[in-house]
Amino acid sequence: MSRPKNQNYKGHGLSKGKEREQRASIRFKTTLMNTLMDVLRHRPGWVEVKDEGEWDFYWCDVSWLRENFDHTYMDEHVRISHFRNHYELTRKNYMVKNLKRFRKQLEREAGKLEAAKCDFFPKTFEMPCEYHLFVEEFRKNPGITWIMKPVARSQGKGIFLFRRLKDIMDWRKDTRSSDDQKDDIPVENYVAQRYIENPYLIGGRKFDLRVYVLVMSYIPLRAWLYRDGFARFSNTRFTLNSIDDQYVHLTNVAVQKTSPDYHPKKGCKWMLQRFRQYLASKHGPEVVETLFRDIDNIFVKSLQSVQKVIISDKHCFELYGYDILIDQDLKPWLLEVNASPSLTASSQEDYELKTCLLEDTLHVVDMEARLTGREKRVGGFDLMWNDGPVSREEGVPDLSGMGNFVTNTHLGCVNDRKKQLRQLFYSLQVQKKASS
Ligand code: ADP
Repeated sequence: MSRPKNQNYKGHGLSKGKEREQRASIRFKTTLMNTLMDVLRHRPGWVEVKDEGEWDFYWCDVSWLRENFDHTYMDEHVRISHFRNHYELTRKNYMVKNLKRFRKQLEREAGKLEAAKCDFFPKTFEMPCEYHLFVEEFRKNPGITWIMKPVARSQGKGIFLFRRLKDIMDWRKDTRSSDDQKDDIPVENYVAQRYIENPYLIGGRKFDLRVYVLVMSYIPLRAWLYRDGFARFSNTRFTLNSIDDQYVHLTNVAVQKTSPDYHPKKGCKWMLQRFRQYLASKHGPEVVETLFRDIDNIFVKSLQSVQKVIISDKHCFELYGYDILIDQDLKPWLLEVNASPSLTASSQEDYELKTCLLEDTLHVVDMEARLTGREKRVGGFDLMWNDGPVSREEGVPDLSGMGNFVTNTHLGCVNDRKKQLRQLFYSLQVQKKASS
């Protein structure tokens, strides 16, 4: 149950356990009209609440959170889909600031080797405030390519590549002379980031990976990794000769969809399983194991970098969409963490993936109180971190630094949920048809 804090709250006088037992239905609210709505509406025992009605579960957008979170009273059992200051991880400039700080802390406390495990984000400067530092770095490496990205936009909007300082001068001039500036609204913040010039290519095309991580708590850190995800390809062969062509350099679906070569039926995605198999056949399973272990390291280190900064409210959970780019040396790079990964499906396969992902997310959030708390796997989610690394083996204590310790992650491995998935997908379609 939730309500504005200043409203009179009439509690129902039940103890926590009783309250859960006796709640006949779970009242949910969301503003998203995509796969999420399909899943919520068809979940047994869940009922939709509109407008100002009280809710138990709210998959809110971040703008609602900003305006209302601090003024909303929430009962013990209520859950909401973002952490209050999620932007510490999901804004490009804050993410880098936190990673840089965490790296320094690790160097102080655990040494250079441990700190080097944070070297998975390309060199980044916040603009305009780090402009002078950027210029220094720029001059050290003449001729390399940089990418400018607005800190708070998504879907490739406002991004451009450059090699000359002059292009930044033009950008500064443009932003200064915009209409916004006349009203004294500050210049939109950007990050200038080293462009990965040697991306791993498949069929001559660049791609990045979208991977889902579900965080249930920051203190202690408790995070789940989803087995499925996808690689998003550009439609056009990669080249560094045309840095102005966004269809070559930006792999966002929102960008690629507008390309003249885009095939709505074929789409531009590969599921992670297919990607993993492709790599294994080309490079052998050990190389792939190492790559995926390095990717796991990105999740854990990035979450640890904000662990003490994020307000760990027990009502909050967050399903993050990680964007990872792999270079030709098979080194993974973290580009961005999204607070609101797209839940709109671009194909049937994509619909199946997102429907299952959301179903499984709700299983882990566990409004129905069905879990024991000892699960290491729920649907396609594997418990990756539970106040420490989680071992894959039953009965092995969860301590790092043990010789035979294998972490409980299975990214891009076969998700046998897939069998159930088709069944779920068809029943959703049938119910949808029946209700329309
Ligand atoms: P947005 O939030 O707008 O999607 P991203 O940081 O995810 O911004 O960048 C959009 C796309 O641009 C990525 O999917 C990737 O294809 C490309 N890209 C971004 N940063 C880099 C980089 N440093 N090197 C190479 N490609 C990049």
